Amino acid sequence: MLENILPEKKVVIDFEVIHVFPSIGRRVMSLNARQLDKTNGGQLILLDIEDITDQRKIEEGLAEIELLFHESKDRLKLAVDAAGLGTWDYNPLIGELIADSCCNEMFGLLPHEKIDCARFIAMIHEEERNHIENVLQLALKGINHGGYEEEFRTAETIDGNVRWIKFRGKAYFNVDGIAYRLVGTSLDITVQKILDQATKELLKKKDDFMSIASHELKTPITTLKASLQLLKRMKDNPDKMLPTLIEQANKSMERVTTLIENLLNTNKLNEGQLHLNKTSFIIADVIADCCQHIRVAGEYTIITKGDKELMAYADADRIEQAVVNFVNNAIKYAPGAKEIHISIEKIKDMVKVSVSDKGQGIPAEKLPYLFDRYYRVDSSGLQYSGLGLGLYISAEIIKRHNGQIGVNSEIGKGSTFWFTLPLVEQFS
Ligand code: ADP
Repeated sequence: MLENILPEKKVVIDFEVIHVFPSIGRRVMSLNARQLDKTNGGQLILLDIEDITDQRKIEEGLAEIELLFHESKDRLKLAVDAAGLGTWDYNPLIGELIADSCCNEMFGLLPHEKIDCARFIAMIHEEERNHIENVLQLALKGINHGGYEEEFRTAETIDGNVRWIKFRGKAYFNVDGIAYRLVGTSLDITVQKILDQATKELLKKKDDFMSIASHELKTPITTLKASLQLLKRMKDNPDKMLPTLIEQANKSMERVTTLIENLLNTNKLNEGQLHLNKTSFIIADVIADCCQHIRVAGEYTIITKGDKELMAYADADRIEQAVVNFVNNAIKYAPGAKEIHISIEKIKDMVKVSVSDKGQGIPAEKLPYLFDRYYRVDSSGLQYSGLGLGLYISAEIIKRHNGQIGVNSEIGKGSTFWFTLPLVEQFS
């Protein structure tokens, strides 16, 4: 370099030489040289050698750190995006808030819409607004090392939604202990919240149901036990109470059987195991047969009207179960009215069976839920006992026959429960 380049260019600036010295090892040197022409025509070279090994190491290290930093920033961004996290960054010193598009979307904002802190606070649900504001203030004061983690609802967004957001982050402080940044992530946890709530409600329903079912079973079993004890006492010396006690024991037994049948049917329905054994039969015959026990007891009169020739193609036992349920409910929930009317009519290619009572009727707002599983109008169970399964099972039976089920009811006038079934055309 000194012999070839310098004579031509006169100067060499920052020429880097790497050399491994036997005693001090690898060094990086920067050479600066200048050719000076003497007045007498001779030449001088001014050469400056600087050992820049350490400086180069620092530069290389910094470059590597920067590369790593970019890489990890990219990796972090990927992870943040994949997790559906939104990120935001607040500078309390100048009051600037920067949120990414994902975060904006959670609050129903446009992807690049810019908002200030006051607007952000206003977008929190009013019931949680003060609390969240307080939490962020405490983080800025360094409580909990500036860390925060909270869940809150948004106020209703422009698209009409209220979302659940999980906020997590940290405040950063300068040497004077003043917060200069509050950064964090936001995650939309609405679906998770809905699922949690649904699970909670389901567990509560299950618990409620278990206690109702146990209570419902306990009542007739206690009566049955009492009847059997009395019968045992009078076994050698029967008195006039005997028929009443046997009747009472039978009724209790029937009640337990019905409850257990309902529970088993519900289980079968849940598991899709309710098999139908379809045949063609005259609807009026099934209705006449199924209510014998009520006719024999004599307290209630069942009046059947309509087309008594109509035939259905269905599972006669299951249809009987639905009719019995309607009639039993008419007696249970309308005990004062002694007449129950059943009508059979043809509507297009369907047969419609309706069971009407003159009871107290059902409030209109409760009607849509009557056929839901475990639904009872008087859920306290104080006035009437029951598991809320009868109508649910009836509805499932009718649905599986491609029929419809419904109720018309008016407070003070009574209720009419009905179902339809596909009709069998009769050729004469
Ligand atoms: P449960 O075994 O509790 O009687 P159901 O499914 O048969 O269950 O009935 C659900 C609810 O519908 C009952 O709790 C009752 O409040 C209401 N209900 C059913 N039938 C009648 C009726 N004929 N009159 C008034 N309410 C009725």
